[in-house]
Amino acid sequence: MKVPNTPENNTNCLCPNCPTHNECMKDQKLFCSIGKTSCELKKQGCLCGECPVASEYQLHDLYFCEQGAAK
Ligand code: SF4
Ligand code: SF4
Repeated sequence: MKVPNTPENNTNCLCPNCPTHNECMKDQKLFCSIGKTSCELKKQGCLCGECPVASEYQLHDLYFCEQGAAK
């Protein structure tokens, strides 16, 4: 199921607290909805696995900021 870009999902997204989330990405989150970032990133862990949005929409992947939105 696609993840809608709603205020509630934005609020619940854990990306801002993620170790991979960097300065370039500071105004970006909810990558499972909006798609991948154009920022350079170094993978340092991903919080998607413990995110309530992932639970709600039954997402199982990680690093949506790199791979793009959930299908
Ligand atoms: S699954 Fe990942 S990208 Fe999607 S809302 Fe949660 S932390 Fe953000
Ligand atoms: S998609 Fe995953 S790795 Fe990327 S910023 Fe969000 S929680 Fe971190």
